[in-house]
Amino acid sequence: MEVCVLGSAGSEAPGFNPPAFLIDDFLLLDAGTVSLTLDRVAQCRITHIFLTHAHLDHIKGIPFLVDNLVSMHRTCHIRILSGKEVISDLKTHVFNNRIWPDFTVLPEKENPVMTYEVITTRRPYSIGGYHIHATKVNHAVPAYAYLVEDPSKGALVYTGDTGPTSAIWKKMRGHDVKALIVEVSFPNELIDLANVSGHLTPSLLEGEIRKLARVPEEIYISHLKPQYRLQIESQLARIPGAHLQVLEEGACFRVT
Ligand SMILES: [Zn+2]
Ligand SMILES: [Zn+2]
Repeated sequence: MEVCVLGSAGSEAPGFNPPAFLIDDFLLLDAGTVSLTLDRVAQCRITHIFLTHAHLDHIKGIPFLVDNLVSMHRTCHIRILSGKEVISDLKTHVFNNRIWPDFTVLPEKENPVMTYEVITTRRPYSIGGYHIHATKVNHAVPAYAYLVEDPSKGALVYTGDTGPTSAIWKKMRGHDVKALIVEVSFPNELIDLANVSGHLTPSLLEGEIRKLARVPEEIYISHLKPQYRLQIESQLARIPGAHLQVLEEGACFRVT
């Protein structure tokens, strides 16, 4: 699987865009940044968007994406997948014909540009040869991590936003996880803010890595608040025993 980083920051600033990870051109994990980095042909190749949660920095690319594609709905169609709370929040608070049109009935009810699908943590969702497992994590709102598995080549885990958690680390034990994308939002000095908002600091990440039965070959760090990036990077460099890399926007990597 090839993973391209459309955005990876925990906020927005020049050169820093919110999280979105594109797998093999068609599968998107979170949608904080889409049409700012992909042209319309690449936007149309996306068929499925798995959302970790409904916070604005993870969904804000969707309204403009579907707006761009609505006239091409016969060839471009976007399915939005997540847990029931996340889909409910999108319907109620975003695509509610007030903040933005309800694109699940546009341009025509029978053939809309966008559809929703509620997924469960009880069984994986299969698409394009991948099995995608959702697992609840510990954030300020209902939130899910995703384990994306190619049965012959191994898996990628993306935590989305989370504070200290456990279920996803247990889930990893039954799978050959080659790469992990995990969030670190704040430096160690802001641990109280991290705890109250459901995020990690480098020292909290160190505790999470200790929970892993097996440390993946690659651990990629995302969701750094841009103003603390240098501070967080120097604190991450002091964590022993794991190969940590801060994700660069525009970069692609392979999970094999
Ligand atoms: Zn969040
Ligand atoms: Zn976030």
